[in-house]
Amino acid sequence: MLFPLRDFRRLLGVLVMLLMVGSLSAGVTTYKVKSGDTLYRIALAHKTSVSALKSLNGIKDERKLQVGQILKLSASSRSGSSSSSSKSAPYARVGVGKRIVIDPGHGGRDKGAIWGGVRESDLNMKVCRELETILKGRGYSTVMTRRSDTFVSLTQRAAIANRYRNAIFVSVHFNATRETWVKGAETYYAGAAGRSLATAIHGEMLRRLELRNRGVRLARFTVLMQTRCPAVLVECGYISNSKERRRCATTSYCQTAAMAIAEGIRKYRWR
Ligand code: ZN
Repeated sequence: MLFPLRDFRRLLGVLVMLLMVGSLSAGVTTYKVKSGDTLYRIALAHKTSVSALKSLNGIKDERKLQVGQILKLSASSRSGSSSSSSKSAPYARVGVGKRIVIDPGHGGRDKGAIWGGVRESDLNMKVCRELETILKGRGYSTVMTRRSDTFVSLTQRAAIANRYRNAIFVSVHFNATRETWVKGAETYYAGAAGRSLATAIHGEMLRRLELRNRGVRLARFTVLMQTRCPAVLVECGYISNSKERRRCATTSYCQTAAMAIAEGIRKYRWR
């Protein structure tokens, strides 16, 4: 189609304006590093995570932060952008207003399963810390039911989740059985909303960790029954199976498990 030159210029003007509005609404802001700043403090002040800042700015060693250095922050959560497919900030709006209660199973006097020197409660914590970092980087508010090797009862864990509205509860475990040939992942739920969350997480676990599918299962576990929000319990693998235990005990496995859970949460349709 042919346009008169005048119309073409007008069209060009509109296009430039649209592009400007687009880049503004993407909400990418910057921060000038001040004396005494640490990446952790900057991340905290701007509701992002250290790992998000590092990857956004290509920082390998966070101790080498320079005063006056300009850092890109993650896209603003108040961004009015309607484009959620933007590659630079795909998670900018996903988690706003949502609370993820992360529950590292066992701890303290309750060590969970112990096989071949590998303690379940330690692995649970490893996965949960990774999960917390990923989710914070994506704009979710998170709560951990424990942060150290301490005992927290199942009722207390559910009570922590019940403090929040618009929350989901994710309990992280590794499994064990005397039948040492058994391996794979199981994800448990107690209610209908929990079931769809469990299905979303379980699918990602199987795909990303190439685990044997032991199913999404209904279970009347205390921690699921006493929680009012959608709640799931993820069994990330069997540490009683020597081959699977060797995989589970690696940092990369725990990181991938955390990423799988985070992706399941992203795919879950919040009510
Ligand atoms: Zn457990």
